[in-house]
Amino acid sequence: TRVGLDVGGTLIKIAYYNNEKLELLKFPAVHMDAAAEWIQLHCAHAEIHMTGGRAEMFQKLIPHSVLIMNEFDATCRGVLHLLSESGQSVDSFILTNVGTGTSIHYVSGKVQTRVGGTGVGGGTMMGLSTLLAGISRFEDIVRLAPEGDRGNIDLKVSHIYEGSEPPIPGDLTASNFGRVVQVPTAERTAADYVASVIGLIGETVTTASIFAAAQYSVSNVIYIGSSFVDNAMLQEVVIDYTKLRGAQPLILTNGEFSGAIGALLAF
Ligand code: ADP
Repeated sequence: TRVGLDVGGTLIKIAYYNNEKLELLKFPAVHMDAAAEWIQLHCAHAEIHMTGGRAEMFQKLIPHSVLIMNEFDATCRGVLHLLSESGQSVDSFILTNVGTGTSIHYVSGKVQTRVGGTGVGGGTMMGLSTLLAGISRFEDIVRLAPEGDRGNIDLKVSHIYEGSEPPIPGDLTASNFGRVVQVPTAERTAADYVASVIGLIGETVTTASIFAAAQYSVSNVIYIGSSFVDNAMLQEVVIDYTKLRGAQPLILTNGEFSGAIGALLAF
């Protein structure tokens, strides 16, 4: 048997087949030893394929000889597998992976080209939520965010064009967090802060993706990464804003496992 691992900055993703059924699981990267123990216990004789920034570090914790592959190629392969398994086919698209940080790729056929990225990603969501609202658990952030109101934190185009007709939709964000200094005494809750943090991340990764889509003349943008898991608000910001900018978004189910799946399937 074979096992695919993606040892990421925040989460370790594992993929393997159990009686032809694809099994997927995750461990926090801070508990790398627990993941290594799991491998020793369940995959003593398995062929281990690894990818991700911490693959070499993880390799030292297990006795197996492992194959390490490029994470971008593994991720692309995994995405193509998930697409075909779900009966979807997209010839060429922008792939935006919102992990700890955000990486953006152009995928055509079976080949990916890295377009760029931004340091604004899931790690930013965790860090800013901790600093601003004292909320540091992912589960708490995504549970609280939908209760938040961005109105007293983010400056909209309509705030600037108050009383006149704006040249772009007034509902667009003109300045993330820009309202804070304009209405310094407004009451703001922890939920408001995390909602605005998610808004900042969603709008930033979407904007970068849209520029990439224009550069490569494609209209489909596929989003993956654990940042989207159970995170209805991030999903909504990204879907709505991508559509508004004239592209077709898809948030791929289990997309955060693409690297592990790609590693599993490689060679
Ligand atoms: P990486 O490969 O860099 O670890 P992921 O695609 O796994 O990236 O995404 C990591 C991000 O996912 C975190 O920064 C956080 O925003 C979010 N996340 C989702 N679930 C969890 C979790 N259980 N623990 C920590 N972060 C999580």
